[in-house]
Amino acid sequence: MTSLDTANAQIFVLEDDPDIARLICSSLTEYGFRCEHASTGRQLLERARRSAPDLCIVDLGLPDMDGMQVVRELQDGSPCAVLILTGRNDVTDRVLGLELGADDYIVKPFEPRELVARVRSILRRYQRAAPVETLTQQRNIAHFAGWRFDRGRHALTAPDGREIHLSAAETGLLVTMLERPNRILSREQLLGERDIDPFDRSIDVRVSRLRRKLDDDPHDPKLIKTVYGAGYLFSAQVEWA
Ligand code: CA
Repeated sequence: MTSLDTANAQIFVLEDDPDIARLICSSLTEYGFRCEHASTGRQLLERARRSAPDLCIVDLGLPDMDGMQVVRELQDGSPCAVLILTGRNDVTDRVLGLELGADDYIVKPFEPRELVARVRSILRRYQRAAPVETLTQQRNIAHFAGWRFDRGRHALTAPDGREIHLSAAETGLLVTMLERPNRILSREQLLGERDIDPFDRSIDVRVSRLRRKLDDDPHDPKLIKTVYGAGYLFSAQVEWA
């Protein structure tokens, strides 16, 4: 995805109901997005492997597999934003979806313009987190406490060599922390200025996901410390290269 060009983004829609699929795709193409439809989880995963979409809209109730499994497998592959669009309005599903790395969660019935706005918001977050291609001096690799973070690939490499993929939201959060280590950051500072969606305000959920990926003990965190009443503090020496 090139910078400031969200409209040209490639979006895959996984939806087994043909009427809903048509509605989603027509709303997206009307706003200039390129849209491809898959009606089974397997079909979507296969295509996503081949052509690396910018974002996948995933229904949870599918004929061949659970949408959560699709989200999980997408996160294991190449970086791709995920928006869950489902009839399931259960807080457990919402939390699970987010924990699996989905960037947003919308419950049906949905308002097409809201869907488009949420899609744009996710793509902008990805762009903010992604390297600016014109700046060759852009520092994209951060080293801290034995870890390596690659901003462009949304990837963490653990001290033991394991590679961990981050969602756009997690990448944005980590970049903010790595750019201002050892300083108290308020929840407002940790949220993107354009994150107007109330669901995005669940900064604490995002922090706990990030802690888990960093093997940071939530009861005694060494890296992302909670500063009660103030926010969070990233406690490490950070070197950008
Ligand atoms: Ca369905």
